[in-house]
Amino acid sequence: MSKGILIYSEVTRENYLHTVTFELANKARELAQKLSDCPIMALVLVKPDLIDEFKEVFRVNGFDKVFYVADERFRTYTTDIFAPVAIKCVRDIDPEIMLIGATNQGRDLAPRISSALHTGLTADCTGLDINESGKLAATRPTFGGQLMATILSKKFPQMATVRPKVFKPMKEFVNVDTNFVRMGYDFCGYKSKIEVLEFTKKITSEINNLDCAEVIVAGGRGMQSAEGFKLLKELADTLGGVVGASRLAVEMGLADKNCQVGQTGKTVIPKLYIACGISGALQHTVGMNNAERVIAINKDRNAPIFEIADYGMVGDAFEIIPKLIQSIKQHT
Ligand SMILES: Cc1cc2nc3c(=O)[nH]c(=O)nc-3n(C[C@H](O)[C@H](O)[C@H](O)COP(=O)(O)OP(=O)(O)OC[C@H]3O[C@@H](n4cnc5c(N)ncnc54)[C@H](O)[C@@H]3O)c2cc1C
Repeated sequence: MSKGILIYSEVTRENYLHTVTFELANKARELAQKLSDCPIMALVLVKPDLIDEFKEVFRVNGFDKVFYVADERFRTYTTDIFAPVAIKCVRDIDPEIMLIGATNQGRDLAPRISSALHTGLTADCTGLDINESGKLAATRPTFGGQLMATILSKKFPQMATVRPKVFKPMKEFVNVDTNFVRMGYDFCGYKSKIEVLEFTKKITSEINNLDCAEVIVAGGRGMQSAEGFKLLKELADTLGGVVGASRLAVEMGLADKNCQVGQTGKTVIPKLYIACGISGALQHTVGMNNAERVIAINKDRNAPIFEIADYGMVGDAFEIIPKLIQSIKQHT
């Protein structure tokens, strides 16, 4: 049987387990079935007062085994403390597969672990599977997003990072008899050279809760102007949603960068995604193709966005959207 799938469980600055942990756990469960139900394991580096609280969270999310190191030095993430401890743990746990969220912390940690263990790392995956030989098949965009490549690692552990929201979290809680293993390392000699003085929030020109929105009305180059985006905002407000954008719309100055959806923007999983004047380039759709429902409005009936849309409206967005707004208002 496989040695198991290890998920690095990041603790956020707000003292939560990052949601990507549960998205990866859900995917890992699917992968584990193809590996004779191998164990799903977590590694968490945590300050001591949090571990008891987290134990229940790991249990209900179906982790079979949780390895943890509890120490005051894990209060704030610093590379020079977390990386050597994580490397030591992964070396000892010796998993078959290791998955890490492509968050700021994960992106910092993952390559350090893979290089220390002389193994490969497939970053920013959009799909994970187990192939016929029982190897991790990690898919990600390549050649500037023109192609999707499925990458196999020759060495172990097979490592991959995945951005938050690429996979869905578990819908039903799976309560298992989780085994907790305290990694009792003596790392008293470890002292960080980094002192974190304070965190400052980046002030953006527009507050946009794209990450957790249930409805996103997104616009592309086809929306042409600030007027076009005003129309999108009106539709979004009517539906209680927020505005998203393609990269070209951002580059044209029609929307803020924090509204961008796609490979170099955000990955979103709303209940409804309305794509207006967006052609549907792969680099855009990798960021939204897990939306529950997609409606596309485009004047070109051959636009690729229609291939992934549940409903399509062929026509001029400037004519369709006002009618939509009016009709929604009449019916609500
Ligand atoms: C490395 C890399 C990373 C990238 N990352 C991203 C990313 O994160 N996100 C992203 O979005 N893109 C990204 N891109 C860019 C991507 O390849 C596309 O160029 C971009 O998504 C296209 O944006 P668009 O659909 O708005 O514009 P276009 O492709 O120009 O499409 C505009 C669409 O609007 C339609 N249209 C025009 N007028 C109207 C109208 N009046 N009514 C209705 N429809 C109309 C047209 O028929 C057309 O289909 C990336 C590219 C690279 C190389």
